[in-house]
Amino acid sequence: MFKSVLIANRGEIACRIARTAKRLGIRTIAVYSAADAHALHRRLCDESHLIGSAEPRDSYLNTRRLLEVAKNVGAACIHPGYGFLSESGDFAEACVEAGLVFVGPPASAIRAMGLKDRAKVLMEKAGVPIVPGYHGERQDPKFLKQQADAIGYPILIKPAAGGGGRGLRRIDRGADFETALEGAVREVAAAFGSGRVLIEKYISAPRHIEIQVFADTYGNTIHLGERDCSLQRRHQKVIEESPAPGMTEKLRKEMGAAAVEAAKAVGYVGAGTVEFVADGTGGLHSDAFWFIEMNTRLQVEHPVTEAITGLDLVEWQFRIAAGEKLPLAQDDVHFDGHAVEARVYAEDPEHGFLPSTGKIVGLEFPAGVRVESGVEAGGEVTPYYDPMIAKIITHAPSRAAALDRMTEALDRTLIAGVRSNLAFLGALCRAPAFGDGKVDTGYIDRELAALGAEPRGPDYAAAAAGFKRLLARDDDAAAVESAEPDSPWDARDGFQLGRPRSIAVPLLVDGEKADAIVDYAGGEAKVAVAGAFPAADATVFDGKDEVFVLRRGRQTRVRLRNVAFAANQSDAGDGVIRAPMHGKVLELFVSMGETVTAGQRLAVIEAMKMEHTLRAPFAGRVAELTVAAGQQVVEGAQITVIKRADAG
Ligand code: ADP
Ligand code: ADP
Ligand code: MG
Repeated sequence: MFKSVLIANRGEIACRIARTAKRLGIRTIAVYSAADAHALHRRLCDESHLIGSAEPRDSYLNTRRLLEVAKNVGAACIHPGYGFLSESGDFAEACVEAGLVFVGPPASAIRAMGLKDRAKVLMEKAGVPIVPGYHGERQDPKFLKQQADAIGYPILIKPAAGGGGRGLRRIDRGADFETALEGAVREVAAAFGSGRVLIEKYISAPRHIEIQVFADTYGNTIHLGERDCSLQRRHQKVIEESPAPGMTEKLRKEMGAAAVEAAKAVGYVGAGTVEFVADGTGGLHSDAFWFIEMNTRLQVEHPVTEAITGLDLVEWQFRIAAGEKLPLAQDDVHFDGHAVEARVYAEDPEHGFLPSTGKIVGLEFPAGVRVESGVEAGGEVTPYYDPMIAKIITHAPSRAAALDRMTEALDRTLIAGVRSNLAFLGALCRAPAFGDGKVDTGYIDRELAALGAEPRGPDYAAAAAGFKRLLARDDDAAAVESAEPDSPWDARDGFQLGRPRSIAVPLLVDGEKADAIVDYAGGEAKVAVAGAFPAADATVFDGKDEVFVLRRGRQTRVRLRNVAFAANQSDAGDGVIRAPMHGKVLELFVSMGETVTAGQRLAVIEAMKMEHTLRAPFAGRVAELTVAAGQQVVEGAQITVIKRADAG
């Protein structure tokens, strides 16, 4: 076995790989970018090395730097994880040339499967059923339209070099083809460096069924069963499970055999996933599944397979890369029970699933389920990388029990600070169609409103619970007092002679103005926000000038309006204007050297779907301008520096 491994990745997958490596006695070498200085994967490994700035191309995609570190520290092999360089034939080749083992397939196999159109040509030759469509070299729009017409609508335009569900376009009528093609080519050329597309028949009621395969260097290739990843949003997986509802032993054998053929056709070695789309109209059938692509790496959802096979796929990857034979023969692979995985993201389902960046103030997972996470409370979700917080995996004897466990686990998970999709995942697990195993890949996008993925307005009962906490915090209580100098709030003894006294306290609830009423009677403060009393089922987490209230998987953010204002003003006493949170510079109103008056608008930052106006703290001159409009900035980043008018 290898003595050491350099893990060329970050987040949960880097942590996952490190755990198995440690168990196998392999020294773990982490790499990290400047944005990941405090990241968990760094601390979990035996050693860690800075490889560059936050931008992936400077760090996690920087082949030269990765190989330099690997050589300097004497790494025996490199594990690429998923994403980043995992499906780069050039990287795999560069590793080998540098004398390092690449824990993955040979560069030739990665390249053979790298372009979907070429891969389909190969699969067709190997006798693997492929989705009907056009996957040739000719790309002129007129010709492609003829092909689409011949295939018959609806069709799907796909980027040949694509991945991660990006750039796919469904077209329902010939009349829409040309405009859609133009847009698709523009988009995919920018995203993947090549505008080449293929056209596929759009399979009706599509279900995504994929087969996990493994091959060693001795010509043995087996499969570890299927995963059903039909719960997708915009072609990206949300919840995965195994076995697939309705799968029979006979069909598993057939799909498994097709996947093994696919792997053999490209000389595959290691872990890979052969993805099929199935026509789910009348359940799964032998003649109704077709190859769409092969992912030549470990898959995000591999734990589902681990749960029902009892195997450690990362261990298998290491063993095969080290030249060992496959640990099991096909007939020795057994499946036990049912497993489900949910991908927990820092995103806001109520606002178009926009990534939610910032500090993770609270993070608690229930015991008794498998959780793969790359962050901790106090950590950050930055705008640079995938905003996945964790994967939760449940395993039980039956599908219903595994789903119940998942629902319960999601309900008991707490994430505060950033918004998360917990409530949305919970709604999915409770959806009768999913419970019945009757979903296709379009289900989520059709049912967004029913799943709660639409703006729902502030939860004032949660806000009231949060406000209660703010009142209990010394500095915030003091702020309430100072904001209301003559208010009866000053009388803290609770001694009452007349009628109960009440005061109004201005709040910001999820950025919206709201008023809290404090009724101070009988020595006990009773509060309400916008008429709602504090919810009993809320959990409150403390932030700096605010609290985060979790209720039914949904977060409500509460702060005192005057405190928020005061804090913003006093922060810039030195004239250094900083970004209040991760976000984007929407507008910049000043230029270098310009004179500004106190309170003048300097810039607008958009963060968490809210616009924050930054103002000059005093009269002066713009002495430094650090950002440009349109730029992403991290919390605390310097935007501009104002020099006092009297400071010369
Ligand atoms: P899986 O089936 O493992 O979920 P995905 O296609 O969703 O596979 O990709 C897994 C990871 O790799 C995700 O983090 C995704 O963002 C990233 N990824 C995959 N392909 C690409 C690509 N071509 N460009 C950028 N990121 C990609
Ligand atoms: P990516 O590399 O982006 O993952 P895929 O080719 O795997 O691209 O397609 C992404 C998803 O789109 C699949 O998981 C599947 O659900 C859906 N899909 C792909 N091809 C078809 C098709 N021909 N008909 C219907 N749905 C499809
Ligand atoms: Mg895919």
